[in-house]
Amino acid sequence: RAGQRLGGAAALEQAQRELGRHQKAHLLGEEHRRDIDADNPALLVQHAARDADQLAERDPLTNLYNRRSFSRRMDEELARQRREASPLSLALLDLDHFKRVNDSHGHAAGDEVILRLVGHLGQVLRGSDLCGRWGGEEFLVAFPGAALLDAGRVLERLREAIAAVPGPLPFSFSAGVTQWRDGDDLDTMLYRADEQLYRAKREGRDRVCYDRPPEAVA
Ligand code: GH3
Ligand code: MG
Ligand code: MG
Repeated sequence: RAGQRLGGAAALEQAQRELGRHQKAHLLGEEHRRDIDADNPALLVQHAARDADQLAERDPLTNLYNRRSFSRRMDEELARQRREASPLSLALLDLDHFKRVNDSHGHAAGDEVILRLVGHLGQVLRGSDLCGRWGGEEFLVAFPGAALLDAGRVLERLREAIAAVPGPLPFSFSAGVTQWRDGDDLDTMLYRADEQLYRAKREGRDRVCYDRPPEAVA
């Protein structure tokens, strides 16, 4: 039994080494301490493996889906959307002048701003919306069942919420939004969303731009 326990502990240590710093904190969460207490190495290893899977899907800072798993889930969403012929919109968000935040207040303050944005996202998104960290300070949100205007309303609410409660470091984001069209995949939608994001930046930032005027799609 002692050998078994050691085996479990060794497996956990191995898993922790492989998973790195952020993941380690996660592994040592309460649930796992309970597992250790329960002295069940098989369960422990099983949970560590499950968490490794989960962590491979998530960005460690924000816990949002990483690029790869967002893409995979979006493919599933698009397949469903095609079957059901319901609308689906996609938004690409990018923090405004984020380099300045890092340069004037440091990288940790930058991370804090990212987390505040994600906190606000959590307040306005629905459980069925899909949110991923696409790059450093770029985020993708898919709105299944939402036409352009519906998605735009959510993003405007997000913009207002951030402006109303900016925290110690005021920040804003720009976004480009597009709605699914026949023949689209993630790449083609992303291309249009990115064009609109670029326009939002050019037109002064802190705004949401649409690949068609919302009234044309409503
Ligand atoms: P713009 O309004 O045009 O988007 O200006 P910007 O400064 O936000 O744009 P740019 O894409 O040039 O800079 C993004 C910066 O985001 C560069 C990089 O240092 C920073 N960044 C990327 N990922 C992270 C992160 O995880 N944490 C922090 N603190 N900064 C990050
Ligand atoms: Mg950027
Ligand atoms: Mg930016």
